[in-house]
Amino acid sequence: MRHIAIIGSGPAGYYTAEAAQKKFGDDVRVDIIDRLPVPFGLIRFGVAPDHQSIKAVSGRYEKVALSDNVRFVGNVTVGKDISIDELQSLYDAVVLATGAPNDRQLDIPGADLPGVFGSAAFVGWYNGHPDFADLTPHLDGKHVVVIGNGNVALDVARILSKTRAEFIGSDIVGHALDALETAHTEDITILGRRGPHQIAMTPKELGELGHLARATPRVDRADFPDEGDDALLEPGMRKSVTHLREFGSIPEAYRADKPVSINFDFFAAPVAIEGDGKVERIIVETTKLDDRLRSVGTGETYTIDCSMVISCIGYQTPAIEGVPYEHGRGRFASVDGRILPGLYCVGWARRGPSGTIGTNRPDGYAIVDLVAEDQPRGVGKAGRPGLDELLDRRGVQVVKFSDWKKIEEAEIARAREGAPREKFVRIEDMIAAQG
Ligand code: NAP
Repeated sequence: MRHIAIIGSGPAGYYTAEAAQKKFGDDVRVDIIDRLPVPFGLIRFGVAPDHQSIKAVSGRYEKVALSDNVRFVGNVTVGKDISIDELQSLYDAVVLATGAPNDRQLDIPGADLPGVFGSAAFVGWYNGHPDFADLTPHLDGKHVVVIGNGNVALDVARILSKTRAEFIGSDIVGHALDALETAHTEDITILGRRGPHQIAMTPKELGELGHLARATPRVDRADFPDEGDDALLEPGMRKSVTHLREFGSIPEAYRADKPVSINFDFFAAPVAIEGDGKVERIIVETTKLDDRLRSVGTGETYTIDCSMVISCIGYQTPAIEGVPYEHGRGRFASVDGRILPGLYCVGWARRGPSGTIGTNRPDGYAIVDLVAEDQPRGVGKAGRPGLDELLDRRGVQVVKFSDWKKIEEAEIARAREGAPREKFVRIEDMIAAQG
């Protein structure tokens, strides 16, 4: 028998478990360990609440979870309840599928002022992550600035601008829905330090901004290169840029009954955030591109008065003591996912925060190939019974997949009308709900 421990129950974790099942059949036992009592990581806490069709992929993970040779071991924190060394002594292979839940730091003066939030915190708040349930976004001002030109910046801008009715069918948590409904936002400015041809936004997500009930995008046509240059872009990017060009042609008359404006400021790098004890303004330097398409400051600045800044500039994997780590790139150090024989990383923990959810599937399969290459068969490690004995001795209350199903049932039962669920946002409430 071969025993595999996977740390993290998001897409990378479940695809790795699926791959292990396919490769080793009945000859494997997989434990998916998560510090939270609820599974699916990014699907539950990262994917936007109004993108339910993307979240449907958890049905595929559930099939894996319900098979006999895969277990969910929730409410267990690696590094506190059990160490990596202990896991390595219990399992033939340990796979770190911990994602990239920490914000990349915005390194400018004033970034620590109240009212500056990283996207991990803000997205976690509206998605009901227990770590961010008590966040108090500064929604009392008229202007919010969002930094970054990726899909997370789009998610954040869209969530800030939707009406209550537009959230029907979503699983945005009640506390966020109520707070957003009473917000005073009139302008959301998205800062991109480079130009429209350098965005990291995909067409579907960008297109959504053109169909909002009370908000409309605003793009300055002067920021675009010649239209003929769009032909040089790859097709997805070309579609995205076409959306931006369309936004640049929205007639002023159309804006009359749209009280919220989503402004794209391109060639705009944040240089400082200022305010008396809280965010009051952001200083932005205009930029141009150098011959390697990097942004270079022009020395000219302008100021945006705002009450909140949300930095959507990427994520990092938290380091684990004793595990080699690439600080510059915010991920574990590995060669194609092999940290050392017996210890692996997969998904965002391996390659950094890029790609779609589906990108994690081949990643998981490749890691299982490495496991098979390093260890042609199990070497008689204790596996599951060893873990259970150790956690029991330490008094850790493990949440199983069947317990999660009871939590899920309770979340469905308390959903507001039209919503798929109302998430519990506190660990103690999740634990209480499993009965
Ligand atoms: P991302 O795609 O890497 O975008 C990060 C953005 O931040 C880039 O525009 C980058 O600009 C900018 N940036 C980085 N450092 C900066 C700084 N110091 N100052 C100003 N701007 C800075 O990251 P993300 O938006 O967090 O998304 C992470 C991954 O999740 C991506 O693969 C994304 O596609 C995926 N995702 C997908 C969906 C969806 O499919 N619906 C939704 C959300 C997220 P430069 O290009 O100049 O570096």
